[in-house]
Amino acid sequence: MNNKTKIDYQFDQQHIWHPYTSMLHSLPVYGVASAKGCELTLEDGRVLIDGTSSWWSCVHGYGHPAILDAMQTQLSTLSHVMFGGITHAPAVELAKKLVNMTPARLTKVFYADSGSVAVEVAMKMALQYWQGRDKPQKQQILTIKNGYHGDTFAAMSVCDPEGGMHTMFGNSVTPRLFAAAPQYGFDTPLSDADKQALRSVFTEKHQEIAALILEPVMQGAGAMNFYSPEYLAYARALCDEFDVLLIADEIATGFGRIGKLFACDHAGIEPDLICLGKALTGGYISLAVTMCSDEVAEGISRSPAGVFMHGPTFMGNPLACAAAHASMTLIEMGHWQNQVESIEAQLKQELAAAKAFDAVKEVRVLGAVGVIELHQAVNTAVMQKAFVDKGVWIRPFGNYIYIMPPYTISSDQLSQLTKAMLEVAASDFDNQGAPSISHG
Ligand SMILES: *Cc1c(COP(=O)(O)O)cnc(C)c1O
Repeated sequence: MNNKTKIDYQFDQQHIWHPYTSMLHSLPVYGVASAKGCELTLEDGRVLIDGTSSWWSCVHGYGHPAILDAMQTQLSTLSHVMFGGITHAPAVELAKKLVNMTPARLTKVFYADSGSVAVEVAMKMALQYWQGRDKPQKQQILTIKNGYHGDTFAAMSVCDPEGGMHTMFGNSVTPRLFAAAPQYGFDTPLSDADKQALRSVFTEKHQEIAALILEPVMQGAGAMNFYSPEYLAYARALCDEFDVLLIADEIATGFGRIGKLFACDHAGIEPDLICLGKALTGGYISLAVTMCSDEVAEGISRSPAGVFMHGPTFMGNPLACAAAHASMTLIEMGHWQNQVESIEAQLKQELAAAKAFDAVKEVRVLGAVGVIELHQAVNTAVMQKAFVDKGVWIRPFGNYIYIMPPYTISSDQLSQLTKAMLEVAASDFDNQGAPSISHG
């Protein structure tokens, strides 16, 4: 294979699973030949402006020289080595950066391969922590409805019980405690009803609850919506009052996406554990981390096992750590702040017109996230084609047409994305036929 190899679409269709697809009714796939900056070039020569950052990860754009250089150097030095009994500079230097960037309480770094694994790890850590603190009865996990935390079993168990995949897998999915989702609206003040809904679960069940896991401020794939930082601050206070750990799943929100370095910064709170992924490597290669406090690490290490019981084959992969180190260096330079601010201002201005459309239920913007919520579920394949025909890569799902573009997008490129969103939201699509894809 070389870079001229043609894509064998027929083989793809017959043998390869794509995310959330059927092997009986295949949906169209678009062959991408290359990507540069904020554009994808299809094999047929068409160029698409990217509104997705490749599932929210590619925040610095494609082909960024600093990340490519770091990866190329690392590749020719040490692409992979096991992490059991071995360490290397990329893992150590990346961890230094993460300890420095994240809230002060988070001092210990566990390298995981993907976001879902980082969530699994956080949940295991929470259980082992309470074993080490002589409260082994604390084995339950509390979360809020409409969440999304990944596709593996433990992650799935804390996804929204209806919108998630629970029903399909029956008893194999561990039952969890679900509090009602808070009222939406970043600026919507915390209501007594929201407080009470959360507080009552704590009052009744705190003796069995090891941790509360939630996506701070923005619920991503499960809701595409924002809630008040006051709710997050209240959740932190309840966790303190009732001896429950707080796990912040910042896999989607981490590294500036909603206007602060971490979503927790909107509320000025620190979680006990944090899960990071997606933008960590700038979207160049898979890597995620779970970080925890000294207190959590000590509890785990005093548990009967005496060690934390997890260790993936590709843990701390040097190539991925080098990519993440370069991506974090770019984040530290801080340009994302102005970039995300201008994206937010432009999205607010340009998407506002959609509020008047019949099909549109709500328009919302926070940071570099712009969402048009429709009254009805979209037909992903039909809309996908309409967007590609307009020269943009936007992938609607559920009731949402949204964009989360690379931070480096130009104002002109962003206008082309919002123009396409408005055109598609305004047009009368035949939404019959292929089902909407519920998770992206
Ligand atoms: C994407 C996502 C995950 C899962 O990450 P994967 O790398 O796809 O396993 C978990 N939590 C949140 C909030 C996410 O957005």
